[in-house]
Amino acid sequence: MEFKNALDFARSLDANDSLSSYRERFFMPTFLGKDVRYFTGNSLGLQTRSTASYVQQELDDWAKYGVEGHFHAKRPWYSYHENLTDKLAKIVGATAKEVVVTHSLTTNLHLLMVSFYRPQGKRTKILCEAKAFPSDQYALESQVKFHGLDLSENLVEVFPREGEHTIREEDILAKISEIGDELALVMIGGVNYYSGQLFDIEKITKAAHEVGAIAGWDLAHAAGNVILKLHDWQVDFAAWCSYKYLNSSPGGVSGMFVHEKHANNKDLPRFAGWWGHDKSTRFQMQPGFQPMEGAEGWQLSNAPVMGMAVHLASLDVFDEVGMEKLRAKSDLLTAYLEFIIDGLSEKNKANCTLEIITPRDQKHRGAQLSMLIHGGGKPIFDLLSEKGVIADWREPNVIRLAPVPLYNSFEDVYYFGKHLDEAIGEFYK
Ligand SMILES: *Cc1c(COP(=O)(O)O)cnc(C)c1O
Repeated sequence: MEFKNALDFARSLDANDSLSSYRERFFMPTFLGKDVRYFTGNSLGLQTRSTASYVQQELDDWAKYGVEGHFHAKRPWYSYHENLTDKLAKIVGATAKEVVVTHSLTTNLHLLMVSFYRPQGKRTKILCEAKAFPSDQYALESQVKFHGLDLSENLVEVFPREGEHTIREEDILAKISEIGDELALVMIGGVNYYSGQLFDIEKITKAAHEVGAIAGWDLAHAAGNVILKLHDWQVDFAAWCSYKYLNSSPGGVSGMFVHEKHANNKDLPRFAGWWGHDKSTRFQMQPGFQPMEGAEGWQLSNAPVMGMAVHLASLDVFDEVGMEKLRAKSDLLTAYLEFIIDGLSEKNKANCTLEIITPRDQKHRGAQLSMLIHGGGKPIFDLLSEKGVIADWREPNVIRLAPVPLYNSFEDVYYFGKHLDEAIGEFYK
């Protein structure tokens, strides 16, 4: 498509967008009483207008039934998480047995690594991407140390090449075969939070398996953003949070995936709790842990129902739209943002170049562009914020932008460009 940097053009794209009405289903934040252009759905997704009614239902049932709500609430709390399973399974390309909503993301990563990172003999190493999200770095570090292993030898990071910002997949694949039978686990963020790079999950998983390693993925920036087929791709395990693209409230509950091939492996060591115990005998309260089949067997605690009610409100919207349509709009919206940024860079290049460090190839990115500002930097970001653009600043000089297909419009992207152009102009005047 031939794009134009013009308001009427952006509006015509919105008019032709079959998902444009979904914007009305969300609360758009304001800042200091002014409307904003919200581009941080990759940090905290927005609230659907239906969310309150889902939470109110549980508050009402709690008031009405007290503890009996576990069985008599409209959606009984005892099995509340089951309301989420099918809808979430569709989003990540899993069977129902492979998915469960429980705990928070970092907790789930640890629980899964307890089962799937089992260093033995010389097979002790974990491979991850350089500049992984800090929580993942700490989780991986502490897992290695937990097994009494030396960190510098056993945590192997793959870096971008000199002068590059994203990691070449060929370098990951080469590293996997180089480490070979010393590799226990590949654990990578499916979409890197900083660069927005989307990795070929299927290919990397296959390469890990070829050397006898396990493949686990942190999908915090991938779930609800890009098409995932975790089952078909033979991913061993994965976890993600629900509050980024999945719009399910700050600190909201996390999702966990364990491939069916591990569903009945009762020999996998795990940290157990009563909610992972076979539900038919859970309330006999007997010693001797009998895990449930599939991902549910990794649950520790009973469902945090309020957080799950918020999650259900959002998953109902995803279920209505479907990931295919979302992804199609996402590609177009992100491409429009790319076009706008490139145009501005060309126009302002005497003072300030804007370098998109996210892959140019749509197959290797989702709804995010990370933009390096050469010249200007933070003051330009601050001017942009004053004009009502909510974006994310990362030192030393990166602005992360997430044009989210459910609620961002082409008009948002047009105005982002206009405000950025003004901000650059004001800074260099
Ligand atoms: C957002 C994010 C987290 C956050 O973890 P919590 O346990 O939810 O605080 C962890 N890892 C990645 C890759 C993330 O993007």
